[in-house]
Amino acid sequence: MRIIDTVARLQSQSRLWCAEGARIGFVPTMGALHAGHLSLVEAAQRENDRVIVSVFVNPTQFNDGADLAAYPRDFEADAAMLADAGVDVVFHPDADEMYPSGTGATGVRAGDLARNYEGAHRPGHFDGVTTVVSHLFNAALADRAYFGRKDAQQLAVIRAMVRDLGFPVEIVGCPTVRGDDGLAMSSRNSRLTPQDRQAALALVRALAAAQRDFAGGDSSAELLTGRLRGILDGAPGVDVEYAAVVDPDTFETPLVAGPGALAVIAARVGSVRLIDNVALGAGDVIQFAPTQPTTQSTAPQGVMS
Ligand code: AMP
Repeated sequence: MRIIDTVARLQSQSRLWCAEGARIGFVPTMGALHAGHLSLVEAAQRENDRVIVSVFVNPTQFNDGADLAAYPRDFEADAAMLADAGVDVVFHPDADEMYPSGTGATGVRAGDLARNYEGAHRPGHFDGVTTVVSHLFNAALADRAYFGRKDAQQLAVIRAMVRDLGFPVEIVGCPTVRGDDGLAMSSRNSRLTPQDRQAALALVRALAAAQRDFAGGDSSAELLTGRLRGILDGAPGVDVEYAAVVDPDTFETPLVAGPGALAVIAARVGSVRLIDNVALGAGDVIQFAPTQPTTQSTAPQGVMS
């Protein structure tokens, strides 16, 4: 596995592969890797000849300096995990490489669907995401790029950016990988105390309840949202930022949810901000055992499609 830290060298490597006729898959990450990231890597390996993973904690997508400072970083462990997984190249630039003119320089403004939910609660976040992902796409020159559906609004924003600006890359959305207890894996979970983790399971219970209600015939977005809030608002240690039912492409709230509509939640638990979502209907199933131990599994257990 090759570790590359400049845009120019990554572009040279990708051009060589391209000349050989190899298909390139790309997985952008901020490191502190877990089984969720590895599931993206596996999908990229299945569908391409070469795989590039980037590890870069992007300062411009953090609206909160304390969150950026506390974000877990362990490049040695990440590189070892990616080497084990058989990744071809890890792209690990520093901030000067990604922002040669500083973080206030040229950027890509995210579109209208970045206004609500994550966009409203994290001002500037999606502009940071679209800017860094554009730069990473220009560096990796990949045929396909892999993103988790756990960050559903991010996925919608990236799809819109690729469509609006004509990036020659196919965006692939991948299922959310969960721990044994159902909690969606996240690099931030390492900052949850065991008690916080227990409290955080309210998010999973709320999403599972919305799925059950939808499967049982409730399709009013208001009723489903009420169901989410009923569970979250009564959960000790959970401070809800939003809970809603939205269209997966527009992030607008429909009156009546159809199959594929998303139940989305953001909440603070202890010092950690968590987001999660499920698709209603559309074969999406959370598998979890809420009474099980509180450690984060390293193997993909729960599967959502
Ligand atoms: P991050 O390192 O948090 O920026 O995430 C990098 C990519 O991994 C993003 O596309 C995320 O949506 C995806 N990802 C994060 N957590 C999970 C998970 N639990 N399951 C699947 N994909 C995930």
